[in-house]
Amino acid sequence: MIKAVRGTRDLLPPETALWNFVEAAVRDVFRAYNFHEIRTPIFESTELFARGVGEETDVVAKEMYTWEDRGRAQSDKGQSLTLRPENTASVVRAYIEHKLWDRGLNKLYYIGPQFRRERPQKGRYRQFYQIGAEIIGPASAGSESPARDAEVLELLATLLDRLGIRDWTLQLNSVGCANDRAAYNEALRKALEPVVGGMCEDCKRRAVTNPLRVFDCKVPEDQPIIDKLPRISQFLDEGCRRHFEQVQEILKAVGVPFVLNDRLVRGLDYYTRTAFEFTHGALGAQNAILGGGRYDGLSESLGGPSAPGIGFAIGEDRLVLTLQESAEAVQRKPDVYIAPLGAGMDREAARLARELRRHDLVVELGDENFRLKKSFETADKLGARFALIVGENEVESGSFALKNLEAGEQVSVPRAELAGKIQAR
Ligand code: AMP
Repeated sequence: MIKAVRGTRDLLPPETALWNFVEAAVRDVFRAYNFHEIRTPIFESTELFARGVGEETDVVAKEMYTWEDRGRAQSDKGQSLTLRPENTASVVRAYIEHKLWDRGLNKLYYIGPQFRRERPQKGRYRQFYQIGAEIIGPASAGSESPARDAEVLELLATLLDRLGIRDWTLQLNSVGCANDRAAYNEALRKALEPVVGGMCEDCKRRAVTNPLRVFDCKVPEDQPIIDKLPRISQFLDEGCRRHFEQVQEILKAVGVPFVLNDRLVRGLDYYTRTAFEFTHGALGAQNAILGGGRYDGLSESLGGPSAPGIGFAIGEDRLVLTLQESAEAVQRKPDVYIAPLGAGMDREAARLARELRRHDLVVELGDENFRLKKSFETADKLGARFALIVGENEVESGSFALKNLEAGEQVSVPRAELAGKIQAR
């Protein structure tokens, strides 16, 4: 038997109803904040992620699905391509490629699959879905303002509330700008030197190449050592400190609760200043439901103009996991099950179904070869609200037997009144 590849999975009904419910709610919220959708390709040149995400990150160093294009044209041959492991680099590439700065501030969102070769477990997959957004533009359009950071965080709080997700915590940090980071990296290197010998292999490597990444370490024995390392909050310059304070002031003013977490440095290299994560109690080990932050230098590192930005990515799989119990509730059940009774009635049933579906009703069709008992059983199993019987007598008289399956009562209804009767609750 051929099965779905490890780390990938089929999304089946009724769960898919939940995915659609989430996506519809998300699109609504984005509309209210004047975000517009962008769809970028599923694969890009490998170089985009190497430069845009960072060679030293786990994502680029270990987790990408990369291959060499065999190509038909000579120009394609040997090009290294990668399934996108995240979407921000692609959005910024598109921003540069299409000169989107001409419109000032760009508020873009995406929904789609991402690919990382991680060890699969509950809430962690190799093909997973992200819902993300970016605000990016020239500083003159206000893209650098702490008001944008706060707007994005308030949007996220609204979104989670709207989905009925209550048990979330916003963890907030500032990772400073390039200057702060240089001084901080130096301090970290110094602090790590005497202790790194007792840490895991990954940390030993990170201490040399990119000490900040030590904070990604999940090895329990390393945690007491990491707890004693200097924190970025002690190294913020005046501008970054002020920026961070202003973000917090707005959040307090609009009533979005947060906790400060100066261990939070996020897995991707391009973040500057505000970094954040929303965690959720019910998710267990993989408790990060979304993450994001500011990336003021990303556009330049991809060869574009200065374009400060801030964004986030929600793990849609994890969002849906927290809503799992509601899957049955959001799946729309048939309003009516049409039971054709006897030869020639499939045709009549099809005509009626067509009429009723035009009224936006969910209609399921039986089969003229089914006995009435079987039709009722099927209608029950599907959770239909009504059963409509279509037999020769009904067609002749133009009046149809409509059974309310919840109340159990049956009435005869003229054809023209059927839709109204079924719509009424
Ligand atoms: P990142 O792009 O690493 O900042 O991740 C943003 C969010 O995507 C995380 O908070 C997770 O909710 C989700 N996510 C990241 N990797 C995976 C994965 N392998 N499987 C499922 N969700 C993921």
